[in-house]
Amino acid sequence: MDREKYDKLVNTFFKWDQQSILTIFEELLSAAAAADAVPGAPVMSQNYETARENPEINILPGNLKDARDAIFPFFWGTESWNSPLHLENVRGPANHASLIGALACLLKNPNLCTDRYSQRSNELELKAITSLANLTFYHTQDPWGVFTIGGTISNFYGAKIGLERVLPGTMQNGLAASGAKVVGICSAAGHYSNQTIAGWIGIGTKQLIKIPTDENLSMRLDLLEAELESRYQSDCLVAFIVATFGSTDGFGIDDVAAIREIIDRVSRKYSKPAPQLHIDAAVGWALTFLTDYDLKKNELKMSEKLIEIVQRVQLACKSLQYADSITIDFHKMGRGHYPSSAFIVNRREDLKYLARSVSDTPYFAEATANRDPALFTLECSRPGIGPYTVMASLDGIGLMGWRMLVARSLELAQTLKDRLSQLNYCRVLNANTTGPSVNWWVLPKGRDANEIFDRLLAGKLSPADQQRYFNEIRRLYEKREMTADPARDAKLGFTTDYGFNPYGACIPAWKAVFFNPQTDDSVIDRIIYSLEDLV
Ligand SMILES: *Cc1c(COP(=O)(O)O)cnc(C)c1O
Repeated sequence: MDREKYDKLVNTFFKWDQQSILTIFEELLSAAAAADAVPGAPVMSQNYETARENPEINILPGNLKDARDAIFPFFWGTESWNSPLHLENVRGPANHASLIGALACLLKNPNLCTDRYSQRSNELELKAITSLANLTFYHTQDPWGVFTIGGTISNFYGAKIGLERVLPGTMQNGLAASGAKVVGICSAAGHYSNQTIAGWIGIGTKQLIKIPTDENLSMRLDLLEAELESRYQSDCLVAFIVATFGSTDGFGIDDVAAIREIIDRVSRKYSKPAPQLHIDAAVGWALTFLTDYDLKKNELKMSEKLIEIVQRVQLACKSLQYADSITIDFHKMGRGHYPSSAFIVNRREDLKYLARSVSDTPYFAEATANRDPALFTLECSRPGIGPYTVMASLDGIGLMGWRMLVARSLELAQTLKDRLSQLNYCRVLNANTTGPSVNWWVLPKGRDANEIFDRLLAGKLSPADQQRYFNEIRRLYEKREMTADPARDAKLGFTTDYGFNPYGACIPAWKAVFFNPQTDDSVIDRIIYSLEDLV
């Protein structure tokens, strides 16, 4: 081989040339800053037409600038979501402490499968997980967990432990071997990932039972109890209950303490193993920053209205201690980089349900369960982005910093709820949930949105009327989308089913989520103004 060419290649792509790397980083940073400076500016259109037809790669070795050029149009054509006008979903701008953590991680590129491949990065994972466990489980003795590539996977871990808990040996023998009937349970406002998981785990999506919610998007406890009774009576096993702590659209929170009491009591009555009580707190976990906030001292000078909300938040958060396991998406309300989702068990011993022996992971022959997640994780190679972004964010921003961020989100959501409540043609649907999101109806002027909603609740809305109103809600949303000024008007979201289903109806809603700390009251003013203009 041509040694000169080879050496040049290796020098370019593997030797540490700090200046070339820095130069390109600076260019990318400047480009990102330029894009941020013009909120709402249109991004490049996509070119899916030839993305498949034109897959050629360069023939000759290039340099780092070729690497830059290869990705730049796609980088430029992607929004950072840093604009305070983004309110459409549970996605925030990434915070810069997280950026520092993520960059540090990329520079070392640890693989968190075993201690030997990642040294102190594994320790960092343990520290980050324990910090999150202390926040969420409140008073926990012996938690353990791992970072995963998303809330879906974290929920998957919870469901899998549940399955092994009620049907030991399924990992080895398969579901069919036991011949048992087995279901999982979540609420109708739960995330669709629960369905994905029921399918992937092998119990089947049809065996995922969705318990209807009340008007506040909380799982109906009477219906949960009735469902458990009837399942156990027909000799069925319940592998897991996923309680949602902050539903994706309307921020419904299930009553974890009450669910714990019900599942323990009813399973004991039928001599069945209690299901795994897993909490899907992918969105809602961040409320736990407020659990111990001293409302009497009120160092952050919260308003009375906000204090009242935080009181309710604290009550909900304290019940998380009754859970077996939890899903936390730091990349949502933690405003961290993707992926930084965590799966945490309240008691470390529960990991035994996932354990593999060293003989099952032959190339980690030196592994010990203490330090080597590979002995129980679904994944083999695992990125370090989660621990690095989470610990940098937690310590960089600090507990009081996080309290300010979370409380401000709650305050903005409440402000929008209050403003919308003053409009006859609007109805706030999740008025009593304590989160950063607002779901509401907008109907044409002259309609009484509350009266229509009450008729829906009373079962007195004819199917034809219901359809007409629901169409109006959608049409007005689309009209606003068409007429909005992208430089000034917030981008809102729309859901076809916000999670409450009286008489089986799927209720559509407009949606706004306050994740961006730079969103301010003027953005809300504009939303109200745009509605007045629209209807
Ligand atoms: C986003 C979300 C998930 C899925 O998490 P990913 O990180 O997107 O995989 C699960 N549950 C809830 C409540 C969510 O909001």
